[in-house]
Amino acid sequence: MTEKADLQSVLDRAAEGGRITPEEALDLYRSAPLHALGSAADAVRRRRYAGTEHIATYIIERNINYTNVCVTACKFCAFYAAPKDTRKSWTRDLDDILRRCAETVELGGTQIMFQGGHHPDFGVEYYEEHFAAIKAAFPQLVNHSLGASEVEHMARISGVSAEEAIRRIHAAGLDSFAGAGAELLPERPRTAIAPLKESGERWLEIMEIAHGLGVESTSTMLMGTGETNAERIEHMRMIRDVQDRTGGFRAFIPYTYQPENNRLKGRTQATIFEYLRVIAIARLFFDNVAHIQGSWLTTGKEVGQLSLHYGADDLGSIMLEENVVSSAGAKHRSNRQEIIDLIRKSGRVPAQRTTTYEHIVVHEDPADDPVDDRVVSHISSTAIAGGTAHPELKLLSAN
Ligand code: SF4
Repeated sequence: MTEKADLQSVLDRAAEGGRITPEEALDLYRSAPLHALGSAADAVRRRRYAGTEHIATYIIERNINYTNVCVTACKFCAFYAAPKDTRKSWTRDLDDILRRCAETVELGGTQIMFQGGHHPDFGVEYYEEHFAAIKAAFPQLVNHSLGASEVEHMARISGVSAEEAIRRIHAAGLDSFAGAGAELLPERPRTAIAPLKESGERWLEIMEIAHGLGVESTSTMLMGTGETNAERIEHMRMIRDVQDRTGGFRAFIPYTYQPENNRLKGRTQATIFEYLRVIAIARLFFDNVAHIQGSWLTTGKEVGQLSLHYGADDLGSIMLEENVVSSAGAKHRSNRQEIIDLIRKSGRVPAQRTTTYEHIVVHEDPADDPVDDRVVSHISSTAIAGGTAHPELKLLSAN
């Protein structure tokens, strides 16, 4: 354990942009006062975004949950249906998906996020066909979807390498990976909650292949399923090591486990304080990742606001549809004006951004705010009626 004076010197070094070790990060996480962590993380954010440090961003996107059929049966997930469960399972057809894309464009959305189960019949060909159709019809929509888990699954179904799967879906229309499926990368907590998923090392290996092929991604962390503080830091360490080699992770998006409707018993959600500590530590630890995203969907709007003072520079998406986290108990909804207001009330100027974080519109003057309140985060009745849940966002925030 680091002495108090040494803890302060580590914090000072981190605040000035110096690299901290995983051990130092764990000491800070365990022992530094919350306000000191937040202050240091905010100093890092302000320096990184000098000139635009007064801005906090959001994006308008649509999650397209294409199927809930899944063979992976993660214990924390209540979104999925087993392939034989015809009462619960559903799959959207291409027309339905294209209609959702059209609505996204109409409402000013710039991004879609394909997110669904590991369907036993969906190989690379399924994604090629769907991504090509979407890109042909809506070339203006950025397809920021899937993650290493889906790549591993589709490659196995089609009998090809992960590299070939990535090349093909990228050529068909995938722009970047949302980083789904990271959950917790260290072996013990990953096996405890997602025993049939690929290992954390394999998840990172596939993301590294993707980055090498020019397909960037975000990265996520699911927190609150019983992992230790050391395992949270180890998760970040594993991502930072890959990022040192590839530079392909655009953002880190921690989000909290939602405890309803799944098979993880006796787990309690991470507290607000734990979440804010993670946001701050992430900003201090990831000297090589540009963006830290606050996740208001799972933590609530007020905590989202607070996260902007603990190192986050982005609040992720106003999601036009989200069936996954919402089904596991996340009940927070918003429309564009609410997100603009909450960013403004946290002392920042809101800006709508692209997938690659360019500012589309900076809402400097409240008198110029958009008046179209059709842009409402919509929780589909399909999943709620089914009592389902799937905390794999990307992400949220993710995405
Ligand atoms: S989290 Fe994803 S991979 Fe795991 S069971 Fe749910 S849908 Fe399947």
